[in-house]
Amino acid sequence: MVRYYAIVVHYGELWLKGRNRNAFIDRLKANIRESLKGCGATITDGRDRILLKFGSKRKLDEAAWRLRFIPGISWFAPAMISRNTLASIVASANKMFGSKDTVRISAKRSYKGTAFNSYQIVSEFIKRSKRLNFKIDRDAEKELSLSVTKSGTILTASKISGIGGLPVGSSGKAVVLLSGGIDSPVAAVYAMKRGMDAVYLHMHAFNNNEEAASSKMHDLVGMLSRYSVRPKVYYAPAYVFQSATMKIPRKYELVLFRRFLYRLAEEIAEKEHANAIVTGESLGQVASQTIANMAASQGGIKPIIIRPLIGFDKREIIDIAKSIGTYDISIRRYKDVCSIGVRNPSTGMGGKLVDRLYKDCRLDAVLKRTLEMTREL
Ligand code: ATP
Ligand code: MG
Repeated sequence: MVRYYAIVVHYGELWLKGRNRNAFIDRLKANIRESLKGCGATITDGRDRILLKFGSKRKLDEAAWRLRFIPGISWFAPAMISRNTLASIVASANKMFGSKDTVRISAKRSYKGTAFNSYQIVSEFIKRSKRLNFKIDRDAEKELSLSVTKSGTILTASKISGIGGLPVGSSGKAVVLLSGGIDSPVAAVYAMKRGMDAVYLHMHAFNNNEEAASSKMHDLVGMLSRYSVRPKVYYAPAYVFQSATMKIPRKYELVLFRRFLYRLAEEIAEKEHANAIVTGESLGQVASQTIANMAASQGGIKPIIIRPLIGFDKREIIDIAKSIGTYDISIRRYKDVCSIGVRNPSTGMGGKLVDRLYKDCRLDAVLKRTLEMTREL
């Protein structure tokens, strides 16, 4: 009969990584272990897959939901593990399918010590077909695949797609500039999908950090934590910056704000040993996102600035935001920092002008003050 409820996890691109392969697999296993806390999973790995075992079907279902968001998993399949006897294999299969199912069967043995070979497994199913709950047809769309291993036969049916990519933490760490908008959470997911660990920085227009942390940002970060557990979020107030820049022409404010954001992110990156900054900018989407303005605002910033959405249309970003569950939170009303006062931002500010305004407004001191008020909540 069934020995365990299990999930077979397959990783995609990890095979590309040559000698680092084991480190990548260990990282993925650690991330899975962290994500599946409370599911009571035992985790083992084989040559090309990770096997998770559970005490109950309910725990398995909970785990299957969480696995869909873990970067580095290309697909996974709920499974049963039966004893290595023909009767036991058939009985387990009977539990997996119902009378409406028509199934084709494939079998392979990585362990050759059983009294039967893979051909005989399939024959056994055909022989007992009258007593099966389901029908067998070699052209059926549904597949029951059987893999005989030393510790039991793994039966898997439906494959579920994972998000692919690389395990979080295998490509370093980034400070993700998270606004309350639609784009930056999508950018965050793309960065995590390529293996970056994310630390979030949000600059807010509230009077204190606690208010910001209990706003919709809390829910947004909660949604993002499905991809990488327990993310750190830094909250920084914008009012010191805003009062220091009150006198400059409004059209320059946005680009200056971006420079300031990057500087703040740079400081957090140093503290966090992060080597990149991630933003939700997309080329030409809004006035501040021209190449000229991006160049001007990133002048002198040391960490690499990654813009995963650079080639996406707003429509596409919205569709992805819906699919990752952040869209409905992003469109909730929010007191946004950048929306204040800027109607016609300059589209071609030079870096020198930004440097000058930065100095004139004494933004170095403002940065210091803002950092003192920045909190991880
Ligand atoms: P989003 O939908 O992500 O807010 P957007 O289209 O509104 O993006 P901008 O407001 O120009 O574009 O912001 C571009 C990027 O700058 C954002 O995607 C985000 O990475 C960063 N950013 C903007 N505002 C903030 C903020 N208040 N705190 C932290 N990062 C911010
Ligand atoms: Mg925005």
